[in-house]
Amino acid sequence: MNVNATMMIAAGLASVISMAAPAVTAAAESEGQITILYDAFGTDAAMTKDWGFSALVEVAGKRILFDTGDDADIFAANVKAKGVDLTRLDFVVLSHRHSDHMAGLSYVLSVNPMVKIYAPKEGFGIFGSSLPSSFYRKDESLPPEMRYYGGKPPEIMKFGAAWGAAHFELIDQTTEIAPGISLIALVSDAPGTRELKELSLAVNTPDGMILVVGCSHPGIERIVEAAAAINPKIHLIAGGFHLVAAPDDVIARVTTSLKDKFKVENIAPGHCTGEPTFAALKTAFGDRYLYAGLGTSLPLAPTMGSGMRRGEVPELDDLSVYRKLASREDGNRYRRGAIAFGVRCTEWMAFRNGEATV
Ligand SMILES: [Zn+2]
Ligand SMILES: [Zn+2]
Repeated sequence: MNVNATMMIAAGLASVISMAAPAVTAAAESEGQITILYDAFGTDAAMTKDWGFSALVEVAGKRILFDTGDDADIFAANVKAKGVDLTRLDFVVLSHRHSDHMAGLSYVLSVNPMVKIYAPKEGFGIFGSSLPSSFYRKDESLPPEMRYYGGKPPEIMKFGAAWGAAHFELIDQTTEIAPGISLIALVSDAPGTRELKELSLAVNTPDGMILVVGCSHPGIERIVEAAAAINPKIHLIAGGFHLVAAPDDVIARVTTSLKDKFKVENIAPGHCTGEPTFAALKTAFGDRYLYAGLGTSLPLAPTMGSGMRRGEVPELDDLSVYRKLASREDGNRYRRGAIAFGVRCTEWMAFRNGEATV
């Protein structure tokens, strides 16, 4: 074969390969692990179960802290029990403003005050915000002492964060913050959390999307749809699906949608997913249901690790906790359960008001 023919074949092969390659950016590596640092179910005796969520996501060469739990002291103890070094983080993601996801931030900042923190951009929110001063109506007939800023407002008005010295970067729309690593920004329209903004972490790996969700207030299906727009191959979803009080028909619809419509390959539900949803997903996904209780480390790989503990049912203690939280027949029992376990989300308030929370 002469040189020209060889070059033509090579060029042809290259064009086929480039046609087959996905148009989206894939992160360099798919391997890593997700370690659950905060949740209300699990079997690790060295860690404290509490309502809330946090996970250390090590993927694509990055160490990402996703959410920080409900109580700074418990979060600190769980982090130490797991031997996690929070001084070595690429960044933190706070999914949303509910305190069961961000109360541990004060501990993070005590050991790593300079870390970059991505959070949803909310008007007058606790992560800080800003607005052009043109947003408010002016009345030039008033004397200066009755006018805001004496009638000369700054062009941009800044509103403080609850953690004044923290390095927040506020996200308003879905953004690729590093190659292959996106934050999906959506807004809830569910009663009780209407207008709540939430970020989900979507990492585009050669094995498909790895999606980490906090509470899924905008709806797990909407979040998955947004991730699938980046890469339709959904390799793993971990985190809270917010179906803790959902009726069976809604759980069945979402389960079918995740399995058959989006063809999610592996599922590792936790936090506000809910006991009956754990059961439904376990039945639907079988050994592709990955147990993700407090303290679990989920290895990330093309075929999700063989030595991994899969699909275990929660312990009896955990079941009784969830039953208290999820009871729809007895509002007082639900309320007491919610308060006892420090539910800071608005699930029980919406329930009390007779509103669906999904
Ligand atoms: Zn939550
Ligand atoms: Zn929430």
